[in-house]
Amino acid sequence: MGFLDKWVESLDYEYEVLTSCTRYKSPRSTCQSCFDACEHDAITSVNNRPFIKNDKCVECGICIAACPVQAVAGIFPKRTVIQNKLLVTGEHLPTVKEMLVLYKKGVSEIIGEDSSLTESWQQVIKEANSILHQLGEDSFNVSDKAFEKTEEVYSRRELFTQWKKESQTLVKQFAPAKWRFNHKDLDVAKYYPDYQFTKITLNPDKCTLCKACEVLCEKKCLNITDSSFSIAAQACSSCRLCVEICPEKAISLEEKISKVQDIHYPIYKRKCSICNQVYDSFHDYGEKCTTCTNGFLSPYIS
Ligand code: SF4
Ligand code: SF4
Ligand code: SF4
Repeated sequence: MGFLDKWVESLDYEYEVLTSCTRYKSPRSTCQSCFDACEHDAITSVNNRPFIKNDKCVECGICIAACPVQAVAGIFPKRTVIQNKLLVTGEHLPTVKEMLVLYKKGVSEIIGEDSSLTESWQQVIKEANSILHQLGEDSFNVSDKAFEKTEEVYSRRELFTQWKKESQTLVKQFAPAKWRFNHKDLDVAKYYPDYQFTKITLNPDKCTLCKACEVLCEKKCLNITDSSFSIAAQACSSCRLCVEICPEKAISLEEKISKVQDIHYPIYKRKCSICNQVYDSFHDYGEKCTTCTNGFLSPYIS
């Protein structure tokens, strides 16, 4: 750890809600995730936006993991990792999201003695393993034995001698590390680029192509051009803002893990045969004009 990292860690870091919160972006947002997640009554609503009461916050990190758009800024509790093994300690329980990130950072095994592997820990590991299975990854191995010194584990003195003999890279390999993440690390979709965690469905019979969803989607999942409405759900965080701001209720979401699959809905230029009004339409067949209500729309060539 460099000097600057140590200095940053020594600062008194308080959790706060950023303006990327969906409730800042639209008064229609009903996101409740951080409020619901906090077990210490430390998040209150001020002007319909979440506010963290630092005198009550215990910095457990649960709200950071609960926020779909990484809008709760803060640093997670420290985790002890030795040789890609996560040691179960009395620290705050990790969230499933955090475990999925730890896995991608190289952690493959959880080590905890009987008493430290509580039911809650086992539940988190079980849920993380279930998701890893759906993502085509290996599971975390769990060992209830205390971490044993092997020939690869060095005392500080041995490490120093070995370090001098071999190279500085040994420090990274063998020294116990205190791993800490901040909110930006919790965008789980980034770590699993071949998969999407949400299925987004558009109802073309309801959508009026107003573009409100496209403008507000932080993850740029929705793209409306002259010729198509495209949905790329890989980066979707399931924040539900598109669902909540759509005036036509044309978007629905389902939390579902699947291989990445972009969807394109073609858009056609149409013109009313009677009033000559030009429309963008999802239909390429006999649709009635909504302006004069008498004519039918036919292909428009500019
Ligand atoms: S979970 Fe995130 S997006 Fe939702 S209200 Fe809390 S800070 Fe805002
Ligand atoms: S907000 Fe709704 S109506 Fe507007 S473009 Fe998006 S899906 Fe269509
Ligand atoms: S597509 Fe909708 S639910 Fe997904 S990130 Fe964008 S606004 Fe949120």
